[in-house]
Amino acid sequence: MDINTKRMNTAAPTAKSKERTTLLTYDEALKLILQECGKEKPKTELVPLDQAAFRVLAEPLKAPFDLPRFNNSAVDGYGVIVDDLQDCDKTPRTLKLIDTVSAGDTNCLSELKSGQCIKIMTGAVVPDAVEAVVMREFCQEEEAGVVTVNCRARIGENIRMTGEEMEKDQTVLDAGVKLTPPALGLAATVGKAQINCYKQPRIAIVSTGDELKEPGQELSDSQIYNSNSYAIRACLTGMHFHKQSGATGNSLVSCLHTNDDRESVDATLQKALETSDVIITLGGVSMGDRDYVKVSLEEKGVRTVFWKVAIKPGKPVYFAVAPGGKFIFGLPGNPVSALVTFELFVKPALKILQGEKSAAPHVVSARLQAALKKKAGRLDFVRANLAANDSSPSEQDQTWKPPYLATPTRGQDSHMLTGLVKADALIHFAQELEYAPEGAEVKAQILNW
Ligand code: AMP
Ligand code: MG
Repeated sequence: MDINTKRMNTAAPTAKSKERTTLLTYDEALKLILQECGKEKPKTELVPLDQAAFRVLAEPLKAPFDLPRFNNSAVDGYGVIVDDLQDCDKTPRTLKLIDTVSAGDTNCLSELKSGQCIKIMTGAVVPDAVEAVVMREFCQEEEAGVVTVNCRARIGENIRMTGEEMEKDQTVLDAGVKLTPPALGLAATVGKAQINCYKQPRIAIVSTGDELKEPGQELSDSQIYNSNSYAIRACLTGMHFHKQSGATGNSLVSCLHTNDDRESVDATLQKALETSDVIITLGGVSMGDRDYVKVSLEEKGVRTVFWKVAIKPGKPVYFAVAPGGKFIFGLPGNPVSALVTFELFVKPALKILQGEKSAAPHVVSARLQAALKKKAGRLDFVRANLAANDSSPSEQDQTWKPPYLATPTRGQDSHMLTGLVKADALIHFAQELEYAPEGAEVKAQILNW
């Protein structure tokens, strides 16, 4: 049976149709989150270069000098005068070697006469008198001091010119840029030892549930292991929320746990509010008798922005703002729901909170490889494998084709992590649709943990 058919007739139609009119859509919910999180400009801090990987720049970085700073050689070779080599692809030319310059050498050569050359290494200063550098592969040092060249050269060939990449005072990196390896390399290239970055929020992960034990502990018949705290912590690790910068280097992420009794929920959430800027609760936010997360937070003066969104998995997702600009994400307890709602809502929020300019997910077009069915009313995020759609278009049909093929993975229920493990994208199975045929073009959100 089709994975979605199984579920089709389970809910009362009246409740469903009511839900359709009252629940926020995914887009509406995400917009509210981004609005709230965008209200506060993150604070900034100076971060030593060696701790700044994947942090977000808080101010533009200017070039303090031209890039490159001086004319330098792009190859290991010989510095020449171009006219000397006019016919030398037919008749090799012999030049007199008068000097050698290596990377880091200060070179004082003031003149290169016709018939002379210098040996020069990659990255070494090219003296003004040199018009081009011929690659070593095209030259031969026959005897000491004599070089035979057997190719021509153009003026400027193999010379990296001063300022050709950037001129002094130009912006090399904009504020809001994440310091990826090349960006960090560029910051180092312009000599920055300390970088003004946006501060990252401190995050508390709060698991809830009497049934939970930590991996490694003994389980009774009715207990399960806490997997969500580890999975969500791994999401944060993937987003480079590790340690506070500076000498203390405390972890930005803490994990707390509460049982499903009111006192424990109250006390744990209080502690999380006092010690963190962002709180991610796991479970305890649905319709159960002992789902106290929302009511406990509201009694502490937290403002609920929304509870429940027309999505699957993850309908009971909750978002609230606490005084002082703290943000609370209540993720449903089912392991797939927790991870999917993290990806849909928490990840974009954290990007904004740490100063990134864009929080947009990476969405591609894909051709569906199996029909999908569901009830209308919720946007279904179907876990899927993506493969390159490299079927070559036929001669008659030269039309555009989606770049990927999307195959739903086995194990689509919200407690089945196996289906998510195998997935590298979430197909957006539109809220209003009940059926999507095999071959339909769909949007697929790349999972980039
Ligand atoms: P809840 O949202 O608290 O009603 O939980 C929904 C389902 O997710 C239940 O089957 C819980 O046992 C399970 N669950 C809740 N929290 C966790 C967790 N941290 N790790 C694994 N499963 C969980
Ligand atoms: Mg629970």
